[in-house]
Amino acid sequence: MLISAKKILTAARAKRYAVPAFNVNNLEILKAVMSAAEKIRSPVIIQTSEGAIEYAGIEYLAAMIRVAAKGKIPVVMHLDHGKDLRYVKLALANGYNSIMIDGSALPYLKNVAITKKVVALAHPKGVSVEAEIGALAGIEDLISVKEKDAALTNPEEAVRFAKDTKCDSLAIAIGTSHGAYKFKGKTHLDIGRLKKIAKLVALPIVLHGASGVREDLKTMAEKYGAKLGEARGVMDQDIKAAIKNGVAKINIDTDLRLAFTAGMREALHDLPKVIDPRKLLEPSNILMREVAMRKMRLFGSAGKA
Ligand SMILES: [Zn+2]
Repeated sequence: MLISAKKILTAARAKRYAVPAFNVNNLEILKAVMSAAEKIRSPVIIQTSEGAIEYAGIEYLAAMIRVAAKGKIPVVMHLDHGKDLRYVKLALANGYNSIMIDGSALPYLKNVAITKKVVALAHPKGVSVEAEIGALAGIEDLISVKEKDAALTNPEEAVRFAKDTKCDSLAIAIGTSHGAYKFKGKTHLDIGRLKKIAKLVALPIVLHGASGVREDLKTMAEKYGAKLGEARGVMDQDIKAAIKNGVAKINIDTDLRLAFTAGMREALHDLPKVIDPRKLLEPSNILMREVAMRKMRLFGSAGKA
C-alpha cells in the first residue's frame, strides 16, 4: 500500500529504526527491492532522482512503483534530490507522495525560500517534504574544526531551518558523501554532531551517502575486471549509532549499483554463449535482493511492515 512518508518516518524515529530508501531506475532494481521487502516484511521508500527520471521517463517509473505499492508492503513514492521545481511539479502530477527539495547548495535564506515553496505545493495534497541543510562532503576533506562547521550541518541552524520551512524530515551532513569513494582513510561519521542535532530537532533525520560498499562485492566485481580501487563506504556500526540517535531514513544507491555490477560482470564472464538478457541479469537480481535484505535487517525495519 502507498503510505505517507511523514507517518512511517515519525514511527521509525520513535521506535528507533530506519526505513531504507532505495534508488531505482529500472524494473530489475525495483523488483529485487520489493522481493526483499516482501520476504522479510519491511516498509520501503522507493525513490527516483532527477537523473533516473531523465533516464527512464517519469511515467514508466511512476507506473512501476504504483504496481509495487499495490501489495501488502507499505511503500513511499519519493522524489530524491529535487533541485528544480519542474521535477517537483512533475512528481506531484505523477502521484508521488513524498518530495525531497535539495536547496543545500544555496545560501540559507534561498534554501528556506525554495523549501517553503515546495511545502506550499505539497502539503495541501498530503505529500511529505524532505529538505536538506548542510553540504555532503567527505569528512576527510574537512581538516579544521572551522571547515567542518562550515560544511557539516550546524545544529542551531538545523532547528531554525525546520521551524522556518515546516518540512517533514531533514537530511543532514555529518560526514557521509555520495558515490563509492567516500573516505580516504579510516571511515567515520560525526555522531556527536548528530546527537546535538537530534536533541534540538524532533523531525525524522535522513542520512544520504550512507552505502557500505561491501568488500566482498567489490572483490567479486574486481575479479571480473572492475577497477574500484579505493572505493570505501560507511561502516555498519556507524549506521547503527546513527539510527540510535535519530536517523529514520537511510538512502541506498551505491550498494545496489555495486551488486548489479558484480552480478553482471560475473554473468558475462561465466555465460559467454548466453544472449538472453533475463539470464544475464539473474545474478544481479539475486545479489541486489540480498543487499536489500541485509539493509532491512541492519536498519531494524525488517518485520515492521
Ligand atoms: Zn543523496
